Amino acid sequence: MTAHYPTAFDFSGRTALVTGGTRGIGQQIVADLAAQGAAVYFCGTGAERGREVAAALADTPGTVRFIPADVADFDAARRLLEEITREAGRLDFLVSNAGITRDNLLLRMKESDWDEVLAVNLKGSFNLIKHAARTMLKQRFGRIVCISSVIGTMGNAGQANYAAAKAGITGLAKSVARELASRDITCNVVSPGYIQTDMTADLTDQARAAIQAQIPAERLGTPADVAQAVLFLLSPLASYITGQVVQVNGGMLMP
Ligand code: NDP
Repeated sequence: MTAHYPTAFDFSGRTALVTGGTRGIGQQIVADLAAQGAAVYFCGTGAERGREVAAALADTPGTVRFIPADVADFDAARRLLEEITREAGRLDFLVSNAGITRDNLLLRMKESDWDEVLAVNLKGSFNLIKHAARTMLKQRFGRIVCISSVIGTMGNAGQANYAAAKAGITGLAKSVARELASRDITCNVVSPGYIQTDMTADLTDQARAAIQAQIPAERLGTPADVAQAVLFLLSPLASYITGQVVQVNGGMLMP
C-alpha cells in the first residue's frame, strides 16, 4: 500500500470563490488557496480594501481577483457567479464566509438588526450556494464550505440574531449535502470558536479573559486555524465527507 498524504494541497486547475475575503478569516482562506495554486475569486462590499488585498496577493502560484458584491442581494450573487463562470469556465470551490454581527439584548434588538444579520449570514449563504450549484451540477463536481460559529450551537446573550443565522447555516448545509452528494458535490460546515479578527477586536480585556477561561487551549484562534480546516474539506482527502460540522474552537465546545 502506498502512502498518499500530500504535505501540501495542490489546487492548481481549481477555481474558487470565497465570500467576505477582504478581511479576517476569509482573507486568510483566499491567501492559502492562492498559495496552493487555485484561481481564487473573492467578494466583499468594501471595494477599495478588496483591490488592496488582491494586489498584495498578486505574486502567488495561483491567481486572485476581487469582484465587489453584496451576498445578501440575490441578483448580485447571480451576477457574481455568472461573471466567474464566464471568465474561468468552471467553479470548483465555494467558501461561504461573509458574515456580520449586530449585537444587542433581545429587548433592545431592532428589527433591522435581525433582518440584516439573517440577510448576510443565512440568506447570503443560500444565494451563493443556489447560484454556484447550477455550475457544480453541470460539471458534476463541487466542494462547498460554509462558515458557521460556535454561537450557532451554544447561543449567546446579545446575539439572538447571529445565533439563529449560524444555526440556520447548519440546516441549510446538511440539506444541500443530501441533495447534491450523488453528483460529487460535498457541502460541509466549519464552525469556529473565538478567532482574532476585526469581528472580535472590540472585546474588552475583561470579556476576552472570560472567553479565554472557557477555552481548554487557553488562547483565541487565528484565521489560519480556520483556513486549515477549510482547505482540508476542499481537498481530495475529504471527498467522502459531506454534511458535517467541523468544530475549530480550541476545545471550547465539544457537541
Ligand atoms: P470580519 O468582520 O473580519 O470579516 C467579515 C468579512 O465579510 C469581510 O470581508 C466583509 O467584507 C465581508 N462581508 C460582510 N458583509 C458582507 C456582504 N453583505 N457581502 C459580502 N461580503 C460581506 O469577520 P471574520 O473574518 O471574523 O468572520 C468571517 C466569518 O467567520 C463570518 O461568517 C463570521 O460570522 C464567522 N465567525 C467568526 C468568528 C470570530 O471569532 N471572528 C467566530 C465564529 C465565526 P466587506 O466589509 O468588504 O463587506
